[in-house]
Amino acid sequence: MERALVTGGAGFLGSHLCERLLNEGLYVTCLDNLLTGNPKNIGHLIGHDRFRFVKYDVTDYLHVEGKLDYILHFASPASPDDYHRHPIHTLKVGSLGTHKTLGLALAKKARYLVASTSEVYGDPLIHPQKEDYWGNVNPIGPRGVYDEAKRFGEAMVMAYQRVHKLDTRIVRIFNTFGPRMRIKDGRAVPNFITQAINNEDITVYGDGSQTRSFCYISDLVEGIVRLLFSDYKLPVNIGNPLEVSVLDMAKKIKDIVGSKSEIIFKPLPVDDPKVRQPDITLAGDILKWSPNVSIDDGLKQTVEYFKSVLSGDC
Ligand code: UDP
Repeated sequence: MERALVTGGAGFLGSHLCERLLNEGLYVTCLDNLLTGNPKNIGHLIGHDRFRFVKYDVTDYLHVEGKLDYILHFASPASPDDYHRHPIHTLKVGSLGTHKTLGLALAKKARYLVASTSEVYGDPLIHPQKEDYWGNVNPIGPRGVYDEAKRFGEAMVMAYQRVHKLDTRIVRIFNTFGPRMRIKDGRAVPNFITQAINNEDITVYGDGSQTRSFCYISDLVEGIVRLLFSDYKLPVNIGNPLEVSVLDMAKKIKDIVGSKSEIIFKPLPVDDPKVRQPDITLAGDILKWSPNVSIDDGLKQTVEYFKSVLSGDC
């Protein structure tokens, strides 16, 4: 029976990934220090005979008993609000955490997959973004703590691949949404949905003309699992190429919720990327992957989840 370790396994993406790997028949150990993860995300997995949760900070010395076939490093604060609140943790988990988990993968001869990000492209000068674009990142700006930690992580993974012949994968994850995002996560989708449900002002930053491309969680997890089980060892974009402006996303969420909220405008955060859209040609070619869930269907599922959390049912 194959065994996987998922760091950040109690987070939004990590918990869906743990669930999917259990469904694939693997044993799954989930590590999370719960800085931004939530034990409720994995509550339904506790007691499963192939699942184990350990509260642990992966920037500390890492020891795991027994064999491991796969290590998936997903631990990190991931919303701009979170990494502004925890800049040093963000830098440490992307650098030291990547180093520690790579060392463990080497010792266990495990395949290693790191969660990288569209943020490695920064405020991109090439649009849409292909994997061979090197990016436009401000290393000393407030977003630099996340962007540079992820860029360092990718460099470290490639060094382990080249020097130690470690079997590695790099997924560059674009904006993703779905159930188990935190209500107070600070990102656009959870903010807009919570504000719309509560009939509060919907806060669009800047004039809302900046664009993002939002992928539903089940599509993202499918892409990651296909990459994990593929032979491809260089970075792959996984995201939904449907590009929308932030203002249009706010209007769409308001409509889906049927809300009376007003849309108001607040200052644009420093270094907020003006555009973002993945080129997913590579994922299509090598993984035969493309997203299936429409934004509307994904948003309906997500709104239902947020309603149940806000009403205290979940
Ligand atoms: N945003 C917004 N209102 C909010 C939260 C975010 O207008 O309440 C904007 C943010 O400035 C950015 C976009 O929505 O342009 C996506 O932000 P998010 O934090 O979701 O992720 P990012 O893609 O910036 O990492």
